[in-house]
Amino acid sequence: MKLIIVGAPGAGKGTQAAILADTLKVPTISTGAVLRKEIADGTEFGKTADSYIKAGNLVPDEFMVELMKDRLSRDDCQNGFILDGFPRTVKQAEALDEMGVVIDKVLDIEVADEKIVMRLSGRRECSSCRATYHTSYNPPKQADICDKCGADLTVREDDKPETIQNRLNVYHESTEPLIDFYRKKGLLVVAQGQEEVTETTKEVFRVLGIE
Ligand code: AMP
Repeated sequence: MKLIIVGAPGAGKGTQAAILADTLKVPTISTGAVLRKEIADGTEFGKTADSYIKAGNLVPDEFMVELMKDRLSRDDCQNGFILDGFPRTVKQAEALDEMGVVIDKVLDIEVADEKIVMRLSGRRECSSCRATYHTSYNPPKQADICDKCGADLTVREDDKPETIQNRLNVYHESTEPLIDFYRKKGLLVVAQGQEEVTETTKEVFRVLGIE
């Protein structure tokens, strides 16, 4: 299965991608996570990406396309993959076509803007293993501590209130046109994001035809 997941920031792409990767036994490539690791490692690429991410803007297409060319050519992607966060513009989608990558399905997780703001402002990320939580929907057992590894939870730099609205605007302007792009190709399936993660998963499995 070669699957793309699209949806607004905070729609649950990363969470559903992790669940699907487990079920389908294919890797998830989350470009946001890849970029955050590059920043943490202090690479040249990370330094370039950092200012775009902090402002809630997209990293330029040419950087992202080079990054994905390299990532998708690795051995673990040969039997399928889930793309979480790529493509994010029609240009990136066209570049993926030009790489000769044949996608089976594109899953759009729909969540209204008002809910996105609430979701992003309550999101917490483990500073060590990068597990994600939400203060209301998926709280850790002990406040601000990761259940899995015991490290501190942090607020992502781009989940700060001043950045959230810009990320939503960027989504509507630059990423939403992808939905029509893939609908016209007959690849699009749409799941309605629910309050509970497990309910969204049920909906995702249903629209993807997974038993
Ligand atoms: P995410 O974790 O998917 O919300 O991504 C966090 C940030 O990384 C985004 O707000 C962008 O600044 C950047 N980013 C991730 N994927 C892409 C992409 N495909 N194209 C451009 N920027 C990206």
